[in-house]
Amino acid sequence: MLRTGKDYLASLRDGRRIRLGKELVSDVTTHPAFRNTAQSFARIYDLKRSPENIEAMSYQENGESCSAWFQAPHTREDLRHRAEAHRRVAQWSCGLMGRSMDHVPSFIVGMSMKPELFDANRCGFGQNIINYLDYLRKGDLFACYLVLTPQTSRGVVGPSKANFRIVGEYDGGIIVSGQKMLGTSAVFSDEAWIGSMIPLGPDQVEEAVTFAVPINAPGVELWVRKSFELNAKSRIDNYFSSQFDESDAVMIFNDVKIPWDRVFCYRDIPLMRDMYFKTPGHVLGNHQSNWRFSEKLKLISGIAHQAADYGNLLSVPAIQQTLGRLAAGEATLLGLLCAQIEQSQQLPSGHVHVNYRYLYAGLQWCAHNYFQIAEEVRLLLGAGPFMMPADDSILEEGEAHDVFEENWKLPSVTASERYRFVRMAWDLLASDFAGRHQQYERFYGGPPHIMDLYSFWHAPWAERREGVRHILDDMINESQQLAAE
Ligand SMILES: Cc1cc2nc3c(=O)[nH]c(=O)nc-3n(C[C@H](O)[C@H](O)[C@H](O)COP(=O)(O)OP(=O)(O)OC[C@H]3O[C@@H](n4cnc5c(N)ncnc54)[C@H](O)[C@@H]3O)c2cc1C
Repeated sequence: MLRTGKDYLASLRDGRRIRLGKELVSDVTTHPAFRNTAQSFARIYDLKRSPENIEAMSYQENGESCSAWFQAPHTREDLRHRAEAHRRVAQWSCGLMGRSMDHVPSFIVGMSMKPELFDANRCGFGQNIINYLDYLRKGDLFACYLVLTPQTSRGVVGPSKANFRIVGEYDGGIIVSGQKMLGTSAVFSDEAWIGSMIPLGPDQVEEAVTFAVPINAPGVELWVRKSFELNAKSRIDNYFSSQFDESDAVMIFNDVKIPWDRVFCYRDIPLMRDMYFKTPGHVLGNHQSNWRFSEKLKLISGIAHQAADYGNLLSVPAIQQTLGRLAAGEATLLGLLCAQIEQSQQLPSGHVHVNYRYLYAGLQWCAHNYFQIAEEVRLLLGAGPFMMPADDSILEEGEAHDVFEENWKLPSVTASERYRFVRMAWDLLASDFAGRHQQYERFYGGPPHIMDLYSFWHAPWAERREGVRHILDDMINESQQLAAE
């Protein structure tokens, strides 16, 4: 099924409990902190089933049209098809909504390729993964994930209420309590995937549980951070933050019942991480992340070029170098994305997945470079943003508008367009919303130090050492020959 934006919005009115400060939000589709972003997600649901996109965005399974990201890839062509679907979702959201509806299902598709890993924990958990993927696919559902225990609860021994843990079992499943972080897009999702991607210690067996839960499950509450959408003045002054604020939330569990068929790992500490790293789950999920970043980078490059143009700087060699670095970076990432697909890897089951090395190189590149990219483009704006009048009321017809048009226009652009451009660039690169994105890109795939380690773990070190061995052997041989002569 390919659901409509209208059906998606209706599904959000399900009694979920969302805390914005002390306020309990009753409907995210109408609340000023969330409604525009909810519409942006709904728009993606509509766009992907529109005649011009449906082929690229869907595939057939058992005679039914399903979203492309639910497909388990068996060929390189399948990977290309999935990639194009990720790219379009990212394009429609300017690369600003990282946990869009194509993110978490990609992890679960990867996990479903190795159900035996889950069965080793408990017979039936492998089937639970397959059934859960089926459930998401059939309903075209939106899932987020929270795979960390909050920093303050890590390693806490004893009965801290915040500490996430299994608190009991009931006839049909398990009962959990405590906090999980950080649910980006959680308020806009149907479902949440809960687990831990960071290693758990041997004494943390009570936290070793991975499961899925509906956002409106009894006992679940989402505590969201400050809303940028709520503080966005207008579509002109805050183009991005007014409509692409995917939000982040801590999820609180108060004795929440999870049925066994939604449990995928139970009291098995190694499996908590292995399900991401010993299946293609982590790489398929983060392939989406790389496409999302590349669309954002395209937008930033366009802004950089336009800023240089407005400043009459395009012929300055130093500015050309800045733009050249940006263009080279964009091409580097696109090249890595191609290599992820064209050097795909195959499993004995016949499934294929993106290439590990190129995926982790891409993830590392994004995490390490975003800050510098944003900074360089912000520098190009100079003091321009502070020359602009206070708000977009200056665009309304009248005496002030006429003075503004006359004095702020450039040879190639009206003052009104210049105003819109500068506000757009500021919202993306320098606002409160932009600050969140800088942090986001750093932590997107995990903490920064791990970004390097993924590549350390997957590099062909033995092969590299062979080249060195060959030269050393050559030197030894030559010395021995000289000695013998
Ligand atoms: C905007 C945003 C959105 C997010 N969305 C999600 C989401 O949707 N789902 C989800 O599950 N998570 C999400 N996260 C959480 C993200 O996965 C974590 O931020 C990330 O894994 C790091 O964990 P932490 O924040 O607890 O940092 P910590 O682990 O506490 O690390 C803090 C700092 O210490 C450094 N550090 C810690 N240990 C070491 C070490 N041994 N060696 C060197 N340096 C070290 C880290 O590199 C980091 O700079 C999001 C984070 C942000 C910022």
